[in-house]
Amino acid sequence: MSEYTNFPQAEANAAFTHDVENMPTELENYNMYTNDALLQKAIKRGGAEWAEEDLQKLGQLCGSAEVIEWGNESNKVKPRLETHNRYGHRIDEVIFHPAYHNLMSTSKGHGVAGDPWANPKKGAHVKRAGSYYMIGQVEAGHGCPITMTFAAVPTLMKDPKIAAEWIPKVLNTSYDPRNVIHTEKESVTIGMAMTEKQGGSDVRQNSTRAYPIAERGSGQGYELVGHKFFVSAPMCDAFLMLAQAEGGISCFLVPRWRPDGTKNPLQVIRLKDKMGNASNASSETELRGAFGWLIGDEGRGIANILEKVAMTRYDCILGSSAAMRQHMTQIVHHTSQRKAFGDYLDKKPLMQNVLADLELEAQASALIGFRVAESLDNLQAGDQDEGSLMRMLTPVGKYWICKRQPGHAYEAMETIGGSAVMENSIMPRFYREAPINTIWEGSGNVQCLDVLRAMQKDPNSLDAFFKEVALAKGSDKNFDAYFAKLQNEFTNLENLEYRARSVVEKMAIAVQGSLMLRYADSAAADAFIAGRMGENSGNTYGMLPQGLDLASIIDHARVEF
Ligand SMILES: Cc1cc2nc3c(=O)[nH]c(=O)nc-3n(C[C@H](O)[C@H](O)[C@H](O)COP(=O)(O)OP(=O)(O)OC[C@H]3O[C@@H](n4cnc5c(N)ncnc54)[C@H](O)[C@@H]3O)c2cc1C
Repeated sequence: MSEYTNFPQAEANAAFTHDVENMPTELENYNMYTNDALLQKAIKRGGAEWAEEDLQKLGQLCGSAEVIEWGNESNKVKPRLETHNRYGHRIDEVIFHPAYHNLMSTSKGHGVAGDPWANPKKGAHVKRAGSYYMIGQVEAGHGCPITMTFAAVPTLMKDPKIAAEWIPKVLNTSYDPRNVIHTEKESVTIGMAMTEKQGGSDVRQNSTRAYPIAERGSGQGYELVGHKFFVSAPMCDAFLMLAQAEGGISCFLVPRWRPDGTKNPLQVIRLKDKMGNASNASSETELRGAFGWLIGDEGRGIANILEKVAMTRYDCILGSSAAMRQHMTQIVHHTSQRKAFGDYLDKKPLMQNVLADLELEAQASALIGFRVAESLDNLQAGDQDEGSLMRMLTPVGKYWICKRQPGHAYEAMETIGGSAVMENSIMPRFYREAPINTIWEGSGNVQCLDVLRAMQKDPNSLDAFFKEVALAKGSDKNFDAYFAKLQNEFTNLENLEYRARSVVEKMAIAVQGSLMLRYADSAAADAFIAGRMGENSGNTYGMLPQGLDLASIIDHARVEF
């Protein structure tokens, strides 16, 4: 017998130090759709009941242990750049973990990159919003090329020849990651390259130049010389780019391969070392005479690419709302199985105050995203007022919801405690992802300035916005007072640029209040108004006033297996 096991029975028993107790079960194998009443109601309201079956299937898939693990794995093993092959040929190829491709294939397969354009009908955008909202709860990084591909369609449509060649491949629901010319593919993805070193928000500073190969004009070939400081998803098959042509800043579609089958000199210099969004490669790229087709007129580049940018901003709203929903399911699951000081944490009054407040934020954010989706459907059906509403709601929502995401992530982590800081929890990934949506696609200030721009360019947009908010008038006196104060902000337009953050924040809370009063459960609507528009609204989560039905608000984030 070894000297180490030669001890009395009581001592041997002591080798078993403890049972693991008071720890939650894994949060996996649940249906993200059937467990989300707010989402189901949004689908019905938007007229997308026809998509129920597909959404249920996707909900089950997104909540499955396997797909959750794809989210983790695709971020643990970062993409790697191979600039040349072993024989020294330039390839500019990024190698991803297979889990990334699985996620891409799932999103493409469920039409997230284009279905509403391919099959426009009532509820098409709302259905896609629901799908994006669920897959976004799993993983955000792959959402970048999915969003850019979806968003490219309105810009691609500006040139009929380009549209005919590219859009069917954009809308195809298969996924083909091969590094080959687009003519050999049925399905493509599209990226976007605007930002240069000297200017991101102010793309008028772009220094990349474009020279016509023969003729000038939309659909003609040009050669581009310059650089792009941020090019995400560099394995996309083509990129919408801005460059200076003779007629001014212009929009181009630059493919990875030239039409003659040779490698386009769109050279990836390096991948960015990002704090989050790890599964998604973002690169610095140089254009050494890269071939591109002009889209639209020379000099109209910013206007033409902005149609794409409006769509990517909308997806930022959906993505940030999805993240908040994931935070909520995590923390309600955890606190309902974790006891401290004699009871489950989700039964403790102070914790209930925090959980319910975070849930209100998540619900109010999602409602804006689904409302923009409805506007898109209505606009596609010809309702121009809905276009004006969307024009305003998008920057308002992008500003506020993306800005609320980082604080929401951190507060959610705190409700879990120490385990949420560990890298084998989903929370550090969501925390590192959180500041990105607010920075890219127009940072906070730029969104506020865009609200002012919308007022100038489309005078109907502010009216359409107020009309939407006013739909809840008369249902709560705090709401009515808040709305009246907001309207007063616009009686004197002096210093509006200086005041823009303050005004846009109020616009966001006002429209959230209106949507909550109309579409959320009454307990949540009452609490939102009391917490955000009442006299005692606080500066951090967990300061809701008394007398609210917090348990039922929290229940909305509780999932059943
Ligand atoms: C992970 C990641 C991926 C990205 N991928 C892409 C991509 O694929 N393609 C692409 O084109 N770009 C991409 N970007 C770039 C991104 O869009 C820019 O970083 C963003 O537009 C801001 O530009 P900038 O970094 O140059 O900052 P700047 O433009 O210098 O802005 C800095 C700050 O100044 C503020 N600001 C700007 N103008 C004003 C003003 N008039 N008044 C007050 N404040 C103002 C901004 O809001 C911002 O907060 C990516 C960025 C990140 C982080």
